[in-house]
Amino acid sequence: MRQSQSFIPTLREIPADAEVKSHQLLLRAGFIRQSASGVYTFLPLGQRVLQKVEAIIREEMNRAGAIELLMPALQQAELWQESGRWYSYGPELMRLKDRHDRDFALGPTHEEVITALVRDEVRTYKKLPLTLYQIQTKFRDEKRPRFGLLRGREFIMKDAYSFHTSKESLDDVYNKMYEAYSNIFRRCGLNFRAVIADSGAIGGKDTHEFMVLSEIGEDTIAYSDASDYAANIEMAPVVTTYEKSDEPIRSLEKVHTPTQKTIEEVSAFLQVAPEKCIKSLLFKVDDRYVLVLVRGDHEANDVKVKNVFEASVVELASPEETKEVMRCSVGSLGPIGVDESVTVIADYAVQAIVNGVCGANEEGYHYIGVNPDRDFHVSQYTDLRFIQEGDPSPDGKGTIRFARGIEVGHVFKLGTRYSEAMNATYLDENGRMQTMIMGCYGIGVSRLLAAIAEQFGDENGLVWPAAVAPFHVHLISVNPKNDEQRELAEEWYEKLGQAGLEVLYDDRPERPGVKFADSDLIGIPVRVTVGKRAGEGIVEVKVRQTGESMEVHVNELVETVN
Ligand code: ATP
Ligand code: MG
Ligand code: MG
Ligand code: MG
Repeated sequence: MRQSQSFIPTLREIPADAEVKSHQLLLRAGFIRQSASGVYTFLPLGQRVLQKVEAIIREEMNRAGAIELLMPALQQAELWQESGRWYSYGPELMRLKDRHDRDFALGPTHEEVITALVRDEVRTYKKLPLTLYQIQTKFRDEKRPRFGLLRGREFIMKDAYSFHTSKESLDDVYNKMYEAYSNIFRRCGLNFRAVIADSGAIGGKDTHEFMVLSEIGEDTIAYSDASDYAANIEMAPVVTTYEKSDEPIRSLEKVHTPTQKTIEEVSAFLQVAPEKCIKSLLFKVDDRYVLVLVRGDHEANDVKVKNVFEASVVELASPEETKEVMRCSVGSLGPIGVDESVTVIADYAVQAIVNGVCGANEEGYHYIGVNPDRDFHVSQYTDLRFIQEGDPSPDGKGTIRFARGIEVGHVFKLGTRYSEAMNATYLDENGRMQTMIMGCYGIGVSRLLAAIAEQFGDENGLVWPAAVAPFHVHLISVNPKNDEQRELAEEWYEKLGQAGLEVLYDDRPERPGVKFADSDLIGIPVRVTVGKRAGEGIVEVKVRQTGESMEVHVNELVETVN
């Protein structure tokens, strides 16, 4: 492509509102422009990189057995009401009405649409497993759109969904997707890490995030320095719904008697798996005895509520007997420190019993953002706290370190969260109706562009790994007014193209300094400069990443560039 005829609006100044390197460089090098907050145009160079990344994703997804389709961005509210997420997704869901006053959403993700599709089209086990994917524009009304493509309100995602008759089949596809993701990010040249993640608003249990390691990442990864263990710890969870009253609900007095129950006894009595139990506490409130068992396996139906603990609470006739008077359960605990949280949940537990305020999912009773096993060691009943740098790794190998990461991909085992709510069933070998088991797998395609720019950009501009670069070669004619230089450059623009290389040809009548600065900014892997020695057939070849350069004769140009 001739630069004189292209559309690459570069900027000399650093745009004032761009905080991070990738955003600054993508703007300055003419890859993107902001259209509205969190909404971007991909300029021709940006579009080329997107296509390169998408091609890699398609290859790996197809290789893993996934099949491409394209679903609508405009989604009717009924689907979201069926899954329940119309009510729980919150303001991130872009909602709108059509002219008939019917509700719609602009898809932030496609579980509902695909579950409805597969429910209607797949009725027998013979058609399963099935993995479908798309590359498509998503909409999320993010509270803080920022860092350019890293957190947009309109962005491009690859999302895949798999449907199964068994957990084993889901495990198999999950592992294939995990492999495919590793291949994709490796081929993009990225330094990344797969981490154990939090299942968040989508629901489901087994999940990994793929994190590109970067100082500006919004996620914190706790990893072992001696094993593969790595987990997202969501460092700064937000306490959004709990307001602590100044007045204590009741004064709590812990009962320490020789008969105080052990976790094992209490969990057996309450029929809770002991490995899920974190702490048991016996309180005396006035003349009543309240036993609180804090657990870490809250399975909230309310998908807004994540990472909560739950307490089973019973009032006992006396501290010695395990004869219950009444029972309820309350949620939950939060990121304010586990000890303090236990006290708070105990407050609630007691209030629940004494005042009859039951209900685990009541508004105002939840802390969010905590995940046992991940944020602290559930096995250490006596010394509960969040995992910290320097702690032994939960897998027993090595020591915990922290790093920052940009989430570029996410794989989930959804189980039957959507198929159950939306009735996606099939007939098994025996003609019996069964619920499909699902997985889902996302990649932030546009975010990936920024993550690559962030990881590779330097002080002079972008540095694209060859696999995703907008062009392979940047050919520069230093002085197009000089006949020898222009003719040699024109000749080799043709020949490099014929050799299968994608060439951006700077044929503009600009000063050399401007051309070189733009070239560094754009970051194509190899630069070929046709200058003073054009008469001898000698050109300069320069590698953008290393800065290494050499003079070569044009006869060796194709080999050198390759
Ligand atoms: P985040 O934690 O960054 O908000 P998420 O967990 O909400 O992301 P998922 O629902 O897992 O995102 O979506 C799949 C992928 O889509 C993410 O791994 C990420 O790469 C990308 N993505 C999510 N939100 C955005 C956004 N606002 N802008 C660009 N990419 C995004
Ligand atoms: Mg999000
Ligand atoms: Mg996330
Ligand atoms: Mg995610």
